[in-house]
Amino acid sequence: MEKILNYINGELIEPSSKIYIENIDPSCGKAYSLVPDSCADDVNEAVKSAKVAYSFWSKTTKQERSDILNKLADAIEENFDMLVAAESRDNGKPLSLAAKVDIPRASANLRFFAGAILHDSSDVHEMDGEAINYTLRVPIGVAACISPWNLPLYLLTWKIAPALATGNTVVAKPSEITPMTAYLLSKICKEINFPKGVLNIVHGRGEKLGDALTTHQDVPIVSFTGGSDTGKHISKITAPYFKKLSLELGGKNPNIIFDDCDFDKAVSTASRAAFTNQGQICLCGSRVFVQNKIYEKFKSALVDKAKKLIVGDPKSSNSHLGAVVSEEHMNKILLKINEAKKLGGILLCGGERLILEGELKNGYYIQPTVFENLAYDCSINNEEIFGPVVTLIPFESEDDVIMMANSSEFGLSASIFTKDISRGHRVAAKIDSGVIWINTWLLRDLRIPFGGMKNSGVGREGGFNSLKFFTEPKNICVKI
Ligand code: NAD
Repeated sequence: MEKILNYINGELIEPSSKIYIENIDPSCGKAYSLVPDSCADDVNEAVKSAKVAYSFWSKTTKQERSDILNKLADAIEENFDMLVAAESRDNGKPLSLAAKVDIPRASANLRFFAGAILHDSSDVHEMDGEAINYTLRVPIGVAACISPWNLPLYLLTWKIAPALATGNTVVAKPSEITPMTAYLLSKICKEINFPKGVLNIVHGRGEKLGDALTTHQDVPIVSFTGGSDTGKHISKITAPYFKKLSLELGGKNPNIIFDDCDFDKAVSTASRAAFTNQGQICLCGSRVFVQNKIYEKFKSALVDKAKKLIVGDPKSSNSHLGAVVSEEHMNKILLKINEAKKLGGILLCGGERLILEGELKNGYYIQPTVFENLAYDCSINNEEIFGPVVTLIPFESEDDVIMMANSSEFGLSASIFTKDISRGHRVAAKIDSGVIWINTWLLRDLRIPFGGMKNSGVGREGGFNSLKFFTEPKNICVKI
């Protein structure tokens, strides 16, 4: 079985313990590679290497860093098919989705920040002829970039690109559940002679090596994307060290459908928002609020669409949904489905594990699932399920739906469907979410401030927000 290796100081190396964990292909439930079960010693080595590299990387010009990031993006594009196949196999997502979203976005992230760093500017504050203040933005040091399993290479590059572009060095910690594309990226880095120690990747279980990384005295910046509970833990244990911390956490996003919407577009977008990537996107619209007048019609159209979605072999171009990421996660989703039934939820479609044939019979497949008749404030409508499960909730007025949408402890994203654009603006202004779409979903502009309110996170990523996060402002006042 292939052994994934850590990437430290430009070398692919075994974990110090020589202990590995099995990496499972969720489409068939079989182990197909081994992931290092790294520990604090490996983290320390990686941080040491990043610290040494910082002394030269932080002195490179913006143009040099931009060129190197673009070279890495080129190499990702040259290895496109390999990375697409690896992402699909590691995560269970359809090959078509990895080809359309994950891998193109990985190279786009690098190119975006390779460009952004060349077009950044700093503030000047003039004091009426007496003095001029100008603010430099300087790199900070070694950044810990911790990413989850749902969009593995996409989110890893979303963090390392701005960190490196601004002159920091990185110790990245990809999810132990989907480590393969990060490993392939490290092999690519080696092939293109990426400067040694600038990017280091340590694989392993977060609960085992996470604290060593986030509390390390030589790691002043922590950028984390993952679950809210892990975010809370990181926030708590790093607090005494005054680190710069960015937390991109979970969501329970409302999808608000007014009766004057473009009906067909709203149905197809709600279905896409519910089930893309098996519902495992932090931005998925898992609470679908539908205005009373069109509730029954919308319900039957959405259920009809959900029933027609093909859940199958991720490698098949016919599959709309593949496998969910792990057996543990599948069981968690199935438990939530049971809980929804116990709470009086009416199952409109799905609700079961799907057993496929042949090689795939032990894979982790779940049917697209739609519930109704669940109170807006019950546990199912409050906790992130992170699977292909949505609830339909009827509403009468704008005020009702705003109250219900905002009742969640999360505040990541929301979508609003209406042809009345004034209403769209009005409702958007009152929804407690960091990212709001009107008449669309997951339309991403990499320049915008991206992130959540409440338990969905702290800070914003994207565009100049990321460049600001990964730098320290230094103001210089010059007396005229
Ligand atoms: P997770 O919190 O279990 O793990 C995320 C990463 O943190 C993994 O690499 C994991 O190994 C690591 N980790 C675990 N414990 C750690 C610790 N104590 N210290 C440091 N690192 C630790 O999350 P997950 O299950 O991999 O991802 C799913 C979650 O991510 C969902 O809640 C989803 O909404 C969220 N997510 C949020 C965004 C966003 O932009 N807001 C994007 C994608 C996913």
